[in-house]
Amino acid sequence: MSLSDIQSGIAQAAQQAGRDSGSVTLLAVSKVQPNDRVQSVLEQGHRVFGENYVQETADKWPAWRASFPDVRVHMIGPLQSNKARQAMGLFDAIHSVDRPKLAKTIARLAQELGQCPDLFIQVNTGAEPQKAGILPQDTDQFIAECRSMDLPVQGLMCIPPVEEESSLHFALLAKIAARNGLTGLSMGMSDDYQKAIAFGATHVRVGSAIFGARDYNR
Ligand SMILES: *Cc1c(COP(=O)(O)O)cnc(C)c1O
Repeated sequence: MSLSDIQSGIAQAAQQAGRDSGSVTLLAVSKVQPNDRVQSVLEQGHRVFGENYVQETADKWPAWRASFPDVRVHMIGPLQSNKARQAMGLFDAIHSVDRPKLAKTIARLAQELGQCPDLFIQVNTGAEPQKAGILPQDTDQFIAECRSMDLPVQGLMCIPPVEEESSLHFALLAKIAARNGLTGLSMGMSDDYQKAIAFGATHVRVGSAIFGARDYNR
């Protein structure tokens, strides 16, 4: 698999769903990947990336941003409140707004800094105890809270349970977004991004299918 395979896969899934492929943003998830693989994807012209860790992003993206000024980096991993300030300087979007405390911290910093990345609320669609995210039944209320703090909420994000059919989770996320007037849907990874597009994904997060397997022990 490669960048161009995934781009064709997105175009094909969008066409089958009667959607414009321009309505789907591909986040190339570059966490833990060797620099030469990321560099190659940048040289192929891709500009939107997903990262999970604040420190890793601080270490590697400033130099690439200098060479490729139109690069966009989205935070897709869990964010500790004490790293929110740093994250707001590093990321163009945060997909992991997953609890009231973090939302309040971001709101306070946004007031102070006069700017805020685009935000996605992470929903724990499978209500998994070990997984981050707002429970589905609490999401309407949480969206309202975020809006009352003037946070720029663009949409919702989910990571379906590994053992379950992801379509059910994509459909649930789309339903919650629609009834709250949100248009952004961050869902779908290497194994199921085409399915996610069928359910309305606007942001697919694809890592290993573009860059190869991640080696966490390197
Ligand atoms: C790592 C990660 C991805 C990419 O996963 P792949 O299976 O490599 O495509 C997508 N979303 C999140 C939240 C991730 O942490």
